[in-house]
Amino acid sequence: MIQTDALVIGAGPVGLFQVFQLGLLGLKAEIIDVLPQAGGQCIALYPDKPIYDIPGVPLCTGRELTQQLLTQAMPFMPADAPSAKPRNLHLGHMVSELQPQADGGFVIHADKGLQVNARAVFIAAGAGAFVPRTLNLPGLAQASNVHHFLHEADEAPAPWAAQHLVIHGGGDEALSAAISIAQHPDLTQRPARISLLHRRDQFQADEALDAQVRELIATGQIDLIVGMPSEATVEQGHVKALQILGADSQTRSVPLDHLLIRLGMSPKLGPLSNWGMALERKQVAVNTASFESSIPGLYAVGDINTYPGKKRLLLCGFHEATLAAHHAAAAVHPDAPQHLLYTTTSPLLHERLGMARK
Ligand SMILES: Cc1cc2nc3c(=O)[nH]c(=O)nc-3n(C[C@H](O)[C@H](O)[C@H](O)COP(=O)(O)OP(=O)(O)OC[C@H]3O[C@@H](n4cnc5c(N)ncnc54)[C@H](O)[C@@H]3O)c2cc1C
Repeated sequence: MIQTDALVIGAGPVGLFQVFQLGLLGLKAEIIDVLPQAGGQCIALYPDKPIYDIPGVPLCTGRELTQQLLTQAMPFMPADAPSAKPRNLHLGHMVSELQPQADGGFVIHADKGLQVNARAVFIAAGAGAFVPRTLNLPGLAQASNVHHFLHEADEAPAPWAAQHLVIHGGGDEALSAAISIAQHPDLTQRPARISLLHRRDQFQADEALDAQVRELIATGQIDLIVGMPSEATVEQGHVKALQILGADSQTRSVPLDHLLIRLGMSPKLGPLSNWGMALERKQVAVNTASFESSIPGLYAVGDINTYPGKKRLLLCGFHEATLAAHHAAAAVHPDAPQHLLYTTTSPLLHERLGMARK
């Protein structure tokens, strides 16, 4: 059981900024996300698309914004080594249960045995937990060589290195995965063969990605297989082949070593909706002075909340996270003075940020 001041559910842009704001106010936070990467919608839905409306940042992509938010929160997300994952960032865990405690805090349960006891909880869950859309064929769910995410950069070797990888999908997620795998700078990480499996010979993807993949197909670096997977041959928890039904109504067998399913993500609000806080159309109703829900100590920030005038914009989520952090700091440390301090001039904030700046 991890003991902490605050738990943030969701490592999307608002959850990451929440950790930063809590850190400035002297509250330690843990942060959990079901995805294997931080960044929420910015990473899962539009990593390479431009964002133009962050104050003071004329243009950045979803991936760049995520990286900047991680860098900004770094003083409050310590890691054992510069390239290591922060110790308080728990990726790949689905939060399922919340148990209010007699002292006003909460115990939160996530899968794989992760438990956190926190004085305050911040739900920054967006539209819900991002769960990859999958291929519903018997035996696939349990197969050890079926993947939905690209492996982490520091995880070597890639599971599909020097083997036959079939990538299923025809949208941005599938095409960007195919490009990054086919062009991996370390040749030993590349598969021996990459097949892109899509139901038709037309992609529903960004023009630039489409053009890049067409070039890789033309130069023989990717094989295009057109058809619908109708059956999987699974032996001892391993997919050996997919049966593909082609446009000519013929079924042929495609042997493979690994299958990467990239059909996009669908958000699922799941168990959070049963935690007892007031909801309006599946959004958490909050008080706009504190961004607290109807349960004291349980805050909701970003796309998950609702209030009169709510706009699902990054800027609004950042504002909400700031006010929620101030309210929680006063509640967790009622005897501590709650002055508004500026990062520009406050020695205390500089100390918390780990700076020598005066
Ligand atoms: C295509 C597109 C373009 C956009 N462009 C802009 C733009 O230009 N400007 C702008 O201001 N906004 C834009 N937005 C909106 C912006 O992306 C959202 O407002 C923002 O991502 C909300 O951030 P968030 O942290 O609240 O939620 P999210 O980004 O949705 O992150 C929530 C995270 O919580 C995790 N989570 C949820 N439930 C659980 C659980 N039970 N256990 C574990 N993890 C959980 C999810 O997996 C997810 O990673 C755009 C949105 C889209 C889809």
